[in-house]
Amino acid sequence: MQRPYNFSAGPAAIPAEVLEQAAADMLDWHGCGMGVMEMSHRGKEFISIYEQAESDLRELLAVPEHFKILFMQGGGLAENAIVPMNLSRAATVDFVVTGSWSQNSQKEARKYASEVNVIASGKDSHFTTLPDPAYWQPSRGASYLHICTNETIHGVEFHELPDLKALGVDAPLVIDFSSHVASRPVDWSRVGLAFGGAQKNIGPAGLTIVVVREDLLGHALTICPSAFDYKIVAEHQSMYNTPPTWGIYMAGLTFQWLKRQREGEASGVAAMELRNIAKAQLLYNAIDQSGFYVNKVAANCRSRMNIPFFLHDESRNDAFLAGAKARGLLQLKGHKSVGGMRASLYNAMPLEGVQALVSYMREFEQQHA
Ligand SMILES: *Cc1c(COP(=O)(O)O)cnc(C)c1O
Repeated sequence: MQRPYNFSAGPAAIPAEVLEQAAADMLDWHGCGMGVMEMSHRGKEFISIYEQAESDLRELLAVPEHFKILFMQGGGLAENAIVPMNLSRAATVDFVVTGSWSQNSQKEARKYASEVNVIASGKDSHFTTLPDPAYWQPSRGASYLHICTNETIHGVEFHELPDLKALGVDAPLVIDFSSHVASRPVDWSRVGLAFGGAQKNIGPAGLTIVVVREDLLGHALTICPSAFDYKIVAEHQSMYNTPPTWGIYMAGLTFQWLKRQREGEASGVAAMELRNIAKAQLLYNAIDQSGFYVNKVAANCRSRMNIPFFLHDESRNDAFLAGAKARGLLQLKGHKSVGGMRASLYNAMPLEGVQALVSYMREFEQQHA
């Protein structure tokens, strides 16, 4: 049976092989007589699942030894508070606002930092461009600088992480990589902390991944809940409280799936990056070559994961969505704050899904142009 292609921005498609494995393990994981959701998080079965997932993620993303990987709860929005509670030292923090998510993040940080400076913004271009790091105006002595490296709603992505050291900035870089984690390699030499919810590109909602440089631990504000204090979470191998065991298990299956992926000489996340570039290029080309659809994001910062696009004639939106659904192309409706359409092309979306979308778009255009 061919499953439909699911273009949801999140929670999003999960590779069928991963879902099949989870279904097979549901009642009895590896002959132990229990499903994963029924296991103690401190039992040897779950500890082995946890350790494998952690080491696979470390390998896939080439996370250096001096970074801790934390499996937490709360999602990206909770991290908007947890990061300043842990890293702000109640002092000044800097934000670059490039769309809805970084906008949310800087608002939340105001509860915890003494001063929040938006040191650059893409607002003047309606978030269709990224402000050039050469013109950012970092605050002196800021505790950290936050960016969202892929704006899920506006469809802008940093294709290269800013090199703060080269800009003369000592503050660690915090990245919200919720919606493109594991879609491409990460240059950890430029990062202090990365966080992301799992439900876009890793697995089910409920798991949040935090990768944090060790020297940033141990500065939490006293109001920070213990379960959200990175140092405490790290000291307990993410088991200070009960971690999201099902999410960790599902993420682990996805990491195994990622490790099996090959694209020419490349494997794992490097293979995904090649595939993601090809998938995004196919859709952007189809949009750009038509007079019927439009994407306004500047070419050098177009997201490979989330591609918003509009019909010039918006009165045809409902017909477009209904026709797509009838062809098994699901969840293409744009975010309510932006409108139009949005195709999310996470790792689990095969090239064939994008080809099916593009051929439907051409057909719809021919019928209605
Ligand atoms: C989805 C998303 C979030 C929010 O995640 P929640 O799990 O809903 O809290 C934060 N940042 C980005 C970039 C996202 O795409």
